[in-house]
Amino acid sequence: MPTDSDAPPFAEFSFKVTEDRLRRLYAAFIENSEAWKLAFAQFRKKLASNFAITVGLGAAFFLFLILVVIGVVPEKHAPVLLMGSLAGAGTGAMHGQRLQTQFKALKSGDMWVKQSVDSGAVGPWYVGVADSGVRSIMNNANTFYRWEYFSSVESWPTHVAILSARGTSLYIPIDCFASHEAKAFTQKVRAILESHACTDTHRIVAYLRDQSTPCPNCRYELKGAQHATCPECGLDLTFDNIPGARGVVRRRRPPSCPRGP
Ligand SMILES: [Zn+2]
Repeated sequence: MPTDSDAPPFAEFSFKVTEDRLRRLYAAFIENSEAWKLAFAQFRKKLASNFAITVGLGAAFFLFLILVVIGVVPEKHAPVLLMGSLAGAGTGAMHGQRLQTQFKALKSGDMWVKQSVDSGAVGPWYVGVADSGVRSIMNNANTFYRWEYFSSVESWPTHVAILSARGTSLYIPIDCFASHEAKAFTQKVRAILESHACTDTHRIVAYLRDQSTPCPNCRYELKGAQHATCPECGLDLTFDNIPGARGVVRRRRPPSCPRGP
């Protein structure tokens, strides 16, 4: 059955993914996942800026009305200013209503759970964790992920999250572990990730995340590059050819293993 690796698992989990479990996972995302927190913050920002624009246009309408009444604005301009600000405020209010509805659906998790159920995420799930990687079997989808695929492991109060920046992350419910086992498991996976996945590629991408650096070949700004190649000219980036990066690799421990590449 296994294709990529026949290594015996050192930890195995078999359980049924139910709607209830999906809801708990959703709550865990909101509580623990930086990416999800960011998405929520951005949505809130969108709501706030929509509100400010709507209120501003509403206020503008009344201001123009007063200016027209006291005769400061010539009457020929009045219809454009009044209708324009009123229509703008109305559109903003309607858009705000839609955003509110979306936000409610997002917050409750209903939308996500429904999508997950529709995409067939409900059912029996097997996860086998071995020294060479992780096998996941769900609804006849038998996938083997090498450790290089993952970038970090986090222990949440409800789940152990083996995270990948590239696609599928694995969330193992805490109740699959005997007491204290989750901590030891997380430590073991972390040690494996540090030895397997923390390659130079990971470290270069981590280094460029906050570092403003020109490509040594074409001077393209490399900050935020997603791979260890220049997006502009395709040069393979190493710690030896990125200006100023030489010292980084000489450190005994690299910058903590990033969530990438
Ligand atoms: Zn370049």
